[in-house]
Amino acid sequence: MAVPKQRQNKARKGRRRAGQLNKNNIANVQTVKCSNCGETILPHRVCPKCGFYKGKEVIKNKVVK
Ligand SMILES: [Zn+2]
Repeated sequence: MAVPKQRQNKARKGRRRAGQLNKNNIANVQTVKCSNCGETILPHRVCPKCGFYKGKEVIKNKVVK
């Protein structure tokens, strides 16, 4: 198992985590509305609810409520 050579300080840890999605910065994540179902989704991603992206169905056989 890898062992850290030096202790990483809080500032450096925070800088690394700023680019990651976690429970601490989830409120600052930009979201857009799905063009098909209106669900709030992450930009440039296929809608997890209806499987649509850019007006086309990308993922088929999704459960649509
Ligand atoms: Zn959708």
